[in-house]
Amino acid sequence: MNEITDLSLKALSEGLQAKTFSSVEITDAFLKRIGALNAKTNAFITVTEEAARAHAVDADARHAKGQAGPLTGVPIAHKDLFCTEGVLTSCGSKMLANFIAPYDAHVVTQCKTAGLVTLGKLNMDEFAMGSSNENSVFGPVHNPWDLSRVPGGSSGGSAAAVAASMTPLATATDTGGSIRQPAALTGTSGLKPTYGRVSRYGMVAFASSLDQGGLIAQTAEDIALGLGVIAGHDVRDSTSANVPVDDYAQELEKPLTGMTIGLPEAFFDERLNASMGQRVDAVIEAFQALGVQFKTVQLPHVAEAIPAYYVIAPAEASSNLSRYDGVRFGHRADNPTDLMDLYERSRSEGFGSEVKRRILIGTYALSEGYFDAYYKKAQQIRRLIRDDYTQAFTECDLLLSPTTPSTAFPIGEKSTDPVAMYLEDIYTVATNLAGLPGGSFQAGLIDGLPAGYQLTGPAFSEGRILNAAHQLQQATDWHQARPEGLTHV
Ligand code: GLN
Repeated sequence: MNEITDLSLKALSEGLQAKTFSSVEITDAFLKRIGALNAKTNAFITVTEEAARAHAVDADARHAKGQAGPLTGVPIAHKDLFCTEGVLTSCGSKMLANFIAPYDAHVVTQCKTAGLVTLGKLNMDEFAMGSSNENSVFGPVHNPWDLSRVPGGSSGGSAAAVAASMTPLATATDTGGSIRQPAALTGTSGLKPTYGRVSRYGMVAFASSLDQGGLIAQTAEDIALGLGVIAGHDVRDSTSANVPVDDYAQELEKPLTGMTIGLPEAFFDERLNASMGQRVDAVIEAFQALGVQFKTVQLPHVAEAIPAYYVIAPAEASSNLSRYDGVRFGHRADNPTDLMDLYERSRSEGFGSEVKRRILIGTYALSEGYFDAYYKKAQQIRRLIRDDYTQAFTECDLLLSPTTPSTAFPIGEKSTDPVAMYLEDIYTVATNLAGLPGGSFQAGLIDGLPAGYQLTGPAFSEGRILNAAHQLQQATDWHQARPEGLTHV
C-alpha cells in the first residue's frame, strides 16, 4: 500500500511542516488511490482532480513563505450536500443531479481558508435520508471491509472514503445518526457536534432542527484538528451558536482519572446483540484501566426517540423539500401540459422512493387536524428526552452505548423494509433530538467487521468526548485495523 495514504491527518500535517513531503505529493497519492478504488467503493460522486492539484500548489507556496497553518496542504473531501462553488452538489438525488452550486458552504469556506485541499464530493443517501447509502441516484456505496455490504448512511461515502484511505478526512452530516452509524460500520471515528456548533449555511437542508455538520477520520485526534477549523459562529445561520470554540487538540491530552461515564439502562436491555455487548464490555474495561468510573443511569423516555424522530424529521423534510418544484430549483420535467403537470412530474421524476415516503409522512403529520396528534406530540416527547439527558448529566460526564445494533449488513438486506432500516438508528437519534454532541469510535471487530461505541456529552462537550476517545485510542489498537482486501491497489 502507498505509504502516504496510510498516514493520519496529524502525521500528514507534521510531515508537511517538516517538509518530508509536499502537498502536491500527498494530493497525487490520494488522487491515485481514489482512481484505483472508486470503481469498487463508489465513495466519490465527483473527483475535482485539477482543482485539487491547484490547491496543493498554493498550499506548498504558503508553506514555502512560512504562511501555512497546521492543516494547510492536507486533503479533505466533502459530503455532496455541502455547496461547493462551481462544482456539482447533487445531494445524491436526480433532483439536483445537475446543480452546480453558486457559492461555498460555510464549512467549505473554512476548510479552504485553512488551506485544506479539496479532493472531491462524496456519495450519500438521497437528501441524507437513509442508514445504508443504498438511496443514492449514483448507486450504493460499498463497505471497504466487505464490498457486498453497506457502509451505513447517510454519510456512507464519507465513511467508506476514510476507511479505504481515499482521504484522511471527510465532512459529513448527522440528522439522526448519519455520521456515527457509518463511522461504526466502517471502523472509522466520527463526531456529530452540538446542534449549532457548526454552521448549516450552504448545507442542503433535510430536517433543520436536527441537521448538524461534522467529520469522519481515522482517529479522534484527527477530528479534533479538523473540528477546530469548521466549528464556530456564523451570522449567516441564525441557529449557529455564539459560543467560543475550545482548543480541542489541547484537551486531548488530559488524563481520564476522575471521569464518570454513565451507561443508559435502556440501551443495555435484552435487545442488545451478544457480540456487540462483548465489544462494549471490552471498551468499558479499557476505560476502567484508565481510571474512568462507570454507573448505570436512566433515560426514561429514550425508547420513544425513534417514533418521535420519524415524525419530526419527515415533517421538516416535507417543508424543506417543497422548494424543489422544477421552477425555482431542481429537475424539470419535459414538455409540461400546464403548471400542475410540471410540478407533479418534476417531483415524481426527481425524487427517489425513500424521499417520497418521507414527504408523504411529513405532509400527513403536519396536516390540519393531525398536527396536534403527531407533530406536537413528537415535540413534547423530544422535550422529555432532552430533560432526561440533562438529568443524566448531573450524575456523569459522558454517556456510553453501542453505536449500532449490529455490524455492516449485506446490500439489499433491509432496503425493502423501512422499519428495519429505521431501527438502525435506535442508539443515535435521541442525541439529535436533544441537540447534543455524540461521537462513534472503533471498538474492535466482530467476525472481521468493525463495531463502534458511542459517547454522548452535554452541549459543547466535544472536547471532552474527543479527549476520552483519544485516550482510549492511545491505550488500544482498535482504530488501527484496516480493511485487508483493499490494501493492495
Ligand atoms: N438514518 C436516519 C434517517 O434516515 C438518519 C439520517 C441522517 O442522520 N441524515 O433519517
